[in-house]
This record gives sequence, C-alpha cells and structure tokens, in this order.
Amino acid sequence: MTHPHRQKLAVIGDPISHSLSPLLQNHLIAHFALPFVYEAVHVRARDLPALVARLRRGELAGVNVTIPHKQAIIPLLDKVVYPADRIGAVNTVCVMSGKLIGHNTDAVGFEHSCAKANIALSNKEILLLGAGGAAKAVVFALLAKQARTIYLCNRKRERAEHLRESLPEAERGRVQVVSWEERAAIAQTVEVVINATSVGMHATQTESPLPATAFHQNMAAIDLIYNPAETLFLRQAKSTGAATLNGLPMLIYQGVAALELWSGRRLEIEELYVDLKIRMRAALRG
Ligand code: NDP
Repeated sequence: MTHPHRQKLAVIGDPISHSLSPLLQNHLIAHFALPFVYEAVHVRARDLPALVARLRRGELAGVNVTIPHKQAIIPLLDKVVYPADRIGAVNTVCVMSGKLIGHNTDAVGFEHSCAKANIALSNKEILLLGAGGAAKAVVFALLAKQARTIYLCNRKRERAEHLRESLPEAERGRVQVVSWEERAAIAQTVEVVINATSVGMHATQTESPLPATAFHQNMAAIDLIYNPAETLFLRQAKSTGAATLNGLPMLIYQGVAALELWSGRRLEIEELYVDLKIRMRAALRG
C-alpha cells in the first residue's frame, strides 16, 4: 500500500537486503504515528551522487547510511555536524531548509546501549579491538564518557595509529595504541573489552578476536556484532562469568536517535524495547 501523504526515509548501502533498519524504523514509525515510510535502497558507490540528488529534490526526507558510504557521502553534503565531523563518518542525513546535514548516531547508540546494560565506562580501563568506522564512533563515545585509558588494538596497527592521530591532541593522552600480539595480555588486565572488528560475523562465525583465556569474570565484554546474536567472543566471555552485551541495543538506539532527528521529536522507547528486541532477533533467525 502506498501512502502519498507520508514522507520517504531509507537506509542506503551495498549490500543492503539483510538490513534490520526497515523493520526497526517502521515499527517505531507506526508506534509513534509519524508521517514516514522507511525502506532499504541498494545504492552502489557509483550511484551515490544520484541518491543524494533525490534528497535534494525532496523525494526522500532523510536517509541512514551504511557500509560502504559512511565516509564517501561527506563531500556530497552541505554540512556535517558534531559528532559526525569529529568521527569522520555519517550514518544519518537530514534535510533542513533544503540543505543536507550529516549526523552520526552510532556513538550515542553505543553509549545508550551500555547505559541500558548497566555497563559503566567512566574511569574504566578499556581494550578496544578494531579501528574501522565503528571503532571510531566507539572511541568518541568512550572519550565523551571519560574512560580512563583506551587501549586501541587493530590487526593493521597503522590504522589504529591513524585513528589516534585524528583525535584532538588534548584527548590523545587517554588513547594508547597497542600491538595485535599484546591483545590477550591486555584483556586480562582491563575492565571492559569491546569487539569492533568484524571477526565473528558470517564466514568467521567460528572465530573470536581473543583467545578464551583472555576473559575474566570481573570484566564486561561488548561485541558490536548483532548477527549472530551470540558470537564466539561473547560465549567465551559468558563462560568466565563476565557481563556481556551484543550489538543489537546499539543498532536500536542509533536508529531511535536518527528518527528523533528526522521527526524533531523526543522518542521514549522503554516500553517498546523488549518487544523490539524480540522482533529483531526473530528477523535475524529468519
Ligand atoms: P570496517 O570494515 O570499517 O572495519 C573492520 C574492522 O575489522 C577493522 O578493524 C579490521 O582490521 C577488522 N578485521 C576484519 N577482519 C579481521 C580479521 N580476520 N582479524 C582481525 N581483525 C579483522 O567495519 P566497521 O567498523 O564499519 O564495522 C565493524 C563491526 O561493527 C562489524 O561487525 C559491524 O557489523 C559492526 N557494527 C555494528 C553496529 C551496531 O549498531 N551494532 C554499527 C556499526 C558497525 P584491519 O584494519 O586490520 O583490516
């Protein structure tokens, strides 16, 4: 059924068919009776300018942006606002008075997911595995939450060095780049370990970025991956008694923050949260 009076929103990426964002957003849109419809649109790199032109023509009221366009879309926008400008990646575009504004809601999504799970970040020693776009949003959130030390560890060390150098000088002191070989020893000493690599997804489901001996019961282990819902990384952590958190709450909260930007409304999702998680888990099991 078409809704001519409703404005279109979309998530754009390549690939995109397995995105959970349409399920999430259309559920929120229906619950809050917002005048939108949300769909997944497959956009290849070469077609990104044409998609942006559709936003400029008002055919779309806004988009979520996912792999591989989060950085590539930046030069096509009129303005990139905090914290997307600091993170260097845009996951949400709004149209404001005809101008295209880039936002990043991944960092706030990560912060809210930790708060919801009662995982404290303030004044903690934290090992962060990965240095891609997601890791950068997480570093931003950890700095904003006053983490004491962030040990940044990536297979290709230079990418972690580059991420650290992109931070304001005043904040670099709290971020220490460590080598991939050191990760297990450091994990044993920290209070929070975060997997922001893609190890554990799809073809690497039988792999973990850490050996089982690296986990201990006094830590929280956070995996940004939500498919599978429980990665080997999280199973290893759980078996030692560590607190665990997967990437689904982060996905939910980044989506809510995006819908708040498009609608201009504060959206309180607590009463929906459990039901949303059940629906999204069911969709993942597919
Ligand atoms: P990128 O492609 O930008 O980065 C991938 C990261 O994984 C790099 O650090 C890369 O290291 C590392 N990596 C890949 N393969 C291996 C391997 N075999 N061994 C060690 N390290 C490896 O991806 P993103 O940063 O965008 O996403 C990372 C993860 O976060 C994904 O699983 C994604 O699904 C998840 N994510 C979840 C979100 C949520 O809302 N829950 C939001 C965004 C992302 P190297 O540089 O050495 O190649």
